[in-house]
Amino acid sequence: MSAMMKAAVFVEPGRIELTDKRIPDVGPNDALVRITTTTICGTDVHILKGEYPVTKGLTVGHEPVGVIEKLGSAVQGYAEGQRVIAGAICPTFTSYPSQDGVPSQDGSYLIPSGRCGCHGYKATAGWRFGNMIDGTQAEYVLVPDAQANLAPIPDGLTDEQVLMCPDIMSTGFKGAENANIRIGDTVVVFAQGPIGLCATAGARLMGATTIIAVDGNDHRLEIARKLGADVTLNFKTCDVVDEVMKLTGGRGVDASIEALGLQSTFESALRVLKPGGTLSSLGVYSSDLTIPLDAFAAGLGDHKINTALCPGGKERMRRLMNVVESGRIDLGLLVTHHYALDNIVDAYDLFANQRDGVLKVAIKPN
Ligand SMILES: [Zn+2]
Repeated sequence: MSAMMKAAVFVEPGRIELTDKRIPDVGPNDALVRITTTTICGTDVHILKGEYPVTKGLTVGHEPVGVIEKLGSAVQGYAEGQRVIAGAICPTFTSYPSQDGVPSQDGSYLIPSGRCGCHGYKATAGWRFGNMIDGTQAEYVLVPDAQANLAPIPDGLTDEQVLMCPDIMSTGFKGAENANIRIGDTVVVFAQGPIGLCATAGARLMGATTIIAVDGNDHRLEIARKLGADVTLNFKTCDVVDEVMKLTGGRGVDASIEALGLQSTFESALRVLKPGGTLSSLGVYSSDLTIPLDAFAAGLGDHKINTALCPGGKERMRRLMNVVESGRIDLGLLVTHHYALDNIVDAYDLFANQRDGVLKVAIKPN
């Protein structure tokens, strides 16, 4: 193994570039994973544009599929050479927030050593790859707290089949789980990007029997149908709130899933929600939200509003890969393009500008 590797790093707003970096040393609780496939997330595009700040020189990317190259001395039950994924979110799983049921909000490791790390609640801090520590768009990545975060890939599954598990599928399914869906529910999903598509698939798996998918792109709405949508609405050609209220006989949906992060989609998600229903928000918002008083029933509508960051950890990953292995859904169709790591700048250009019907891009070193 050479001491150097290629890595895509954030240079300055508008520039993510491939550079040479030293292959990191492996601490007792770490695992060094040789990346075989990774991908670019919408969040990485926010980083590229300078809308989400990260340290200059940080390796970006948070969706690893690879092979264990070297295990830390304290990591047990895995073997070098084993194929693994890790979640985009890598909590310690030993902290208070982890044991409080919100491991994705685990910031315990941010507290300087020697000081009490008992608390460590910090919103979104479970997201370390390509945010706090070097990420996955590289030849190698160091997985922290590997014992809790490495998930072996079942034999027979390809890299592409599990590439959505670390982030897109985990996040999208969490949107469905947070929507409190019951068998027979009517659910609307606002936006059918990769995460919204996974929320649509998740709503179907959870037992919703009328799923309404909303987007402005007919190609994405077609894919939504393949993944479980019963009705598709293009917001460019209809009034979505009116249509959903008509479809539900004026009752409103049992659950609304928001998968974009705009005032307009959040507001529509609330306007079509029945009293007592659940709004499950996955969007990443970049400005203050306003809650319309009438749709909110002045605060007396028994509405529930849930938010979430992607869940991580090996048990979450095992379950998601089990869904893939079961054949219940095929998310391979979300991987529309392939690029070598050497050409990742071109891949960013395609993905950021949403050209050529791109949904997800598989990036492969070598
Ligand atoms: Zn992501």
